[in-house]
Amino acid sequence: MTALAPLEKRWQALRRRARVCRACPLWMPATQTVFGAGRVDASIVLIGEQPGAQEDLQGEPFVGPAGAMLDRALAEAGIDRDKVYITNTVKHFKFEPRGKLRLHKANAAEQASCRRWLDAELGLLMPQAIVALGAMAAKALFGSSFRLLRERGEWRQTLDGREAFATIHPSFILRQRSSEERELAYKGFVRDLRLLVHRRAISGK
Ligand code: SF4
Repeated sequence: MTALAPLEKRWQALRRRARVCRACPLWMPATQTVFGAGRVDASIVLIGEQPGAQEDLQGEPFVGPAGAMLDRALAEAGIDRDKVYITNTVKHFKFEPRGKLRLHKANAAEQASCRRWLDAELGLLMPQAIVALGAMAAKALFGSSFRLLRERGEWRQTLDGREAFATIHPSFILRQRSSEERELAYKGFVRDLRLLVHRRAISGK
């Protein structure tokens, strides 16, 4: 048995419990729980908002177009996706039809209900650095007064004392209307992700 096996076992047990969670109504229309994925000994945890349609079908976080954008940005920032753990603040897919769009947005009660799983993941993994992707994840980590566009890319402590910063969600890049706007948003995203590389270089980890 490797040193990692007990941690892996505890994580598997946590994921099994989340699979049958019925603590808020989001489980009903969703296909399945989308729990976090990645190395259980990862030093970096990325936290998104909630699963999208592809994630709902495949049961894995960040496997749709936003996931592809994240992969590209991580690679360009010099971060190996296989070495990070990726999860969401809310574990079931939710959308509301608005015209031609499907807006994903768990309400405050659903976010509060699901917080138990994120807290359990972070408590188990004990990462050195956390990145919140998008405003919903940033507010979950830093409190409701956090303003993403003003405070993104600044290292700070989470409410429970971990090193973290927030940046945009990769889907924000996809929503930009022109290729110039998308390129600008993408460059800013990569610049923020590089903070992880600089921090590791400085600390020697
Ligand atoms: S969204 Fe979270 S709290 Fe609600 S049922 Fe799913 S796992 Fe449970």
